[in-house]
Order: sequence, then C-alpha cells, then structure tokens
Amino acid sequence: MKINQLEVGSMQNFTYLLVDDNNKSSILIDPSWNTEYIKKLIQQYHIQVKYIVNTHHHFDHVLGNDDMSKTTHAKIIQHKSSPLKHDISVESGDKIQFGDCELNVIHTPGHSQDSICLINDKYIFSGDTIFVGSFGRTDLPGGNAEQLYDSVFGILANLNDDLIIYPGHNYGSTSTSTIRQEKKTNIIFKCKSKHEFLNMFK
Ligand SMILES: [Zn+2]
Repeated sequence: MKINQLEVGSMQNFTYLLVDDNNKSSILIDPSWNTEYIKKLIQQYHIQVKYIVNTHHHFDHVLGNDDMSKTTHAKIIQHKSSPLKHDISVESGDKIQFGDCELNVIHTPGHSQDSICLINDKYIFSGDTIFVGSFGRTDLPGGNAEQLYDSVFGILANLNDDLIIYPGHNYGSTSTSTIRQEKKTNIIFKCKSKHEFLNMFK
C-alpha cells in the first residue's frame, strides 16, 4: 500500500490518498481542502478512487466529500453513528477493501461519537482520536473524555506497538509516529489512571 499524506487547509489537517500496490484502486481519507491538487494526482497516475472514508463527521474532515465524490464517483463511508449523509455505514470489525489492500475499522468514540480508526498489520489511521504527542479534544458536541480514555487505553494501547500512526492533523513534532513511541511521549499516556486523565479537564 502506498500512502500519500497530504497536509491541507489552515488547521494542519491530513488527507490521505492510499493506493494499492498495483496502482489499480485507492481510497481517500478525510478530503477537505486542496481538492484540485488531489484531482490532479488522481488523474496523473490514473488512480481509481473506490471509497471516500471519513474518520469522523467534523467539517474539517469532510468538506471535500461532495466535490471528490462527484469527480471520482467514490462511495462515502462513515461510522454508522455519523449524522451526515453517507453511502456505506461501518462499525468495529468491518473491513474496507480496495485492490489488494484491506483495512479494518475500529470504533474509537471520545473526540466524537462516530470516530473511527483504520488499521492493518502495519499502519493505523487514527483521525482525531490520537495525534503525535497529544489527543483529540473532547469538549465539542458529542465529545466525551471518559470514552476517549477508554478508546486509547482499552483499544489503541493493546494494538501492536510497531504500528505506524498516521494522525488526522499535523500537530506533533513529526508527521507520523508509532504506538510504542506515543506510549513514551504522548501526554495522554503520562496519565496513570482514568481519574487522573479526567482531572486534566477540571
Ligand atoms: Zn474533529
């Protein structure tokens, strides 16, 4: 799988264009800004976009959906609890296949109710659940700090430590990281208990 990590817009968002090794099929994660550039890439390399996948429904992750789905005819995939219009609903355990690639869906609520991460044996596309060094805010509508703690400590912390994290924003000192590295340096992992984590918001 080839990963194109594109920083877009003024909020350091990452859009991802993932292309299978045979250059036949691809998916677009969180299109928002710079869609003209992405269209050019797709045209230039004759890439077929099978799906648009949104890690959650916040505007800065979905703004380019209409534009890109019109151009590519890709179906839009979101978690089943997303309030937005989409073609395919997914939940934990579902698989997203394109070309010779497959990503598994994990529901990781906390930053928003419909937050999902996409993983395979090498990578995790973490949306706004976890960033390099920090984590998604939980004070927006639908956010829940306790759920975020459970998603990070109950799910992400139990994944393979070697997984490379591709976050939803470029907020860290590097644009990617690993689960192992984040366990050492991410502020959420400095918390010794859920109680301590929840106290950060008081
Ligand atoms: Zn968000």
